[in-house]
Amino acid sequence: MSILLTGAAGQLGRELTREFVRQKAAPTGGRIGGRIAGNPLLHEALRGPIFGVDRKPSPAACDEAIVQDLSDLDATEQQLARLQPRVVINAAAWTAVDAAEDNQTAAFRLNAELPGMLARWCGENGAFLLHYSTDYVFDGQASRPYTEADQPHPASAYGRSKRAGEEVVLESRCRHVVLRSSWLYSAHGQNFLLTMLKLAAERSELRVVDDQIGCPTWARNLARASRLVLEKQLGAPMTSGLMHYCDGTVSSWYGFAEAIFAAASAAKLLDQRPQLHSVASSDYPTAAPRPMYSVLDTATIRKRYGVKTPPLEASLTACLAELNKGK
Ligand code: NDP
Repeated sequence: MSILLTGAAGQLGRELTREFVRQKAAPTGGRIGGRIAGNPLLHEALRGPIFGVDRKPSPAACDEAIVQDLSDLDATEQQLARLQPRVVINAAAWTAVDAAEDNQTAAFRLNAELPGMLARWCGENGAFLLHYSTDYVFDGQASRPYTEADQPHPASAYGRSKRAGEEVVLESRCRHVVLRSSWLYSAHGQNFLLTMLKLAAERSELRVVDDQIGCPTWARNLARASRLVLEKQLGAPMTSGLMHYCDGTVSSWYGFAEAIFAAASAAKLLDQRPQLHSVASSDYPTAAPRPMYSVLDTATIRKRYGVKTPPLEASLTACLAELNKGK
């Protein structure tokens, strides 16, 4: 038995690889981070190889790193037929939000047609599918956290492509969970945290939008939540469906930048702390509109799966410590 992880070289994919390889190293019934690692079915799945598929080489921790253009659906399906995974985790996506406006065919291929093919294959072959989606499926007009029951209404091509991907998985007959998240950051890849640290090294003043509200989420926390969901799903099959996961602190981008520079100063990662100026979204036009408010209600995943949603400060500190180690 095995796990096939698409997008293994991306920011979430790298954290998922780390999370599952750690689990694999723990003996059944042993302890991981103070918690009993006792799910024999997940252990069985994890005793088999973890295949990472991406257009870039996947982390070395994967048992087999397959370099594959996932927009070639036939070739990807042939890989599935060859590898016969028991669990498919789809962390690959077209994530270039603005570029999606002018590249809708390619964005829909990755974000809607690929999950459609994965869901069909998983349904036909008895595999479980874990798929990811985004707060961009909402238009951001709400004034209270979005629940899973709220009707999506994407305002961008990226959001529409991700919504189409959700729908095809949710309507499929494979066992699945769709996890929606928001504002991901990590020590790798392209994200707001790394952009802020880079800009701080180049400039003494920065202008950051303060009228978009969401929940910054460390990709590692989403990977941990994913493992907990999979453990429960494989142990005692539960209802398939959609769930929200984001970390526990609501912020604007400006507030997130302030938290980053406070934590980076404390970690001695900054030579100088830049002066921050708040600006409105209208001062910073983008090709694709952003949801002004995209806080996700996480009550379902917390209650049903016992998942915790850590606060921003603790997660940022841990993420920056890792960046410091890698320096
Ligand atoms: P990344 O862009 O970091 O990772 C996606 C990976 O998929 C990248 O390695 C990317 O390669 C790869 N990929 C893209 N196209 C192809 C292709 N045609 N063939 C093979 N590989 C390909 O995204 P994240 O890890 O940030 O996102 C993971 C999931 O979480 C996605 O479903 C995303 O929609 C969702 N999400 C992300 C949020 C965020 O803030 N980033 C917020 C909420 C949800 P390359 O880098 O070369 O493009």
